[in-house]
Amino acid sequence: MVSARRPLVAGNWKMNGWQRSTAELAKILTGARALAAKVDLLVCPPATLLSGFAALASGSPVAIGAQDCHVEPAGAFTGDISAEMLKDAGAEAVIVGHSERRSHHGETNGDLRAKALAAWRAGLTAIVCVGETGAEREAAQTIAVVQRQLDGSLPDGATAQRLVVAYEPVWAIGSGLTPTPTDVAEVHGFVRERLGARYGAAGQGIRILYGGSVKPSNAGELMAVANVDGALVGGASLKAEEFLGIAAAYR
Ligand code: PEP
Repeated sequence: MVSARRPLVAGNWKMNGWQRSTAELAKILTGARALAAKVDLLVCPPATLLSGFAALASGSPVAIGAQDCHVEPAGAFTGDISAEMLKDAGAEAVIVGHSERRSHHGETNGDLRAKALAAWRAGLTAIVCVGETGAEREAAQTIAVVQRQLDGSLPDGATAQRLVVAYEPVWAIGSGLTPTPTDVAEVHGFVRERLGARYGAAGQGIRILYGGSVKPSNAGELMAVANVDGALVGGASLKAEEFLGIAAAYR
């Protein structure tokens, strides 16, 4: 069956990037032209670069996104940034519940559900991350953990435009390790099933990204797995050549 879902390759720059990194984005924009017919591209820089990146990428096939948002639209929340502010700065999407936010900031599934709703309120696509730790995988808890995270963090009313799910095994992030294609297929198949059960036909259109040590050398194999609709890329998204090399899996 040919999937109607258009692939998405998203780069999460995390706490990396300077004003001079605009040059790297410019290279991504140039390389994106040859890929735009087949794949959507999204770059999520730190908040300091959001508005500059959005201005540079305007009119290009590359969208700009953010890495987190607050649940309130505005107010006395020192150091936080609302989804509306991200939208105002030019973001089209926001990552919600990356495992680094879950572990370093204690974000719960309930918090993430509220953040996804905040993203929708502001007109942003929420990229909600789920994934098991190494200990949970060893204890054969992967599916149970992912189910709990999906059920707890996804709000009602999702559509293909509003929601992207990223399956990111925590042990694969930044480690150079990846699950086997069979393991990825099992989890993505399960996520697809849950999205269908929860959202009906809309659930079939929601993209499910794989994330965790994706590189140009393994992207072809991982992106070919059933129900993998693209990648969420950390380290390799910082270099235009590597990021584009991953997206080229869809050329
Ligand atoms: C991530 O942190 O979302 C990620 C996938 O990182 P990396 O690609 O570096 O493993």
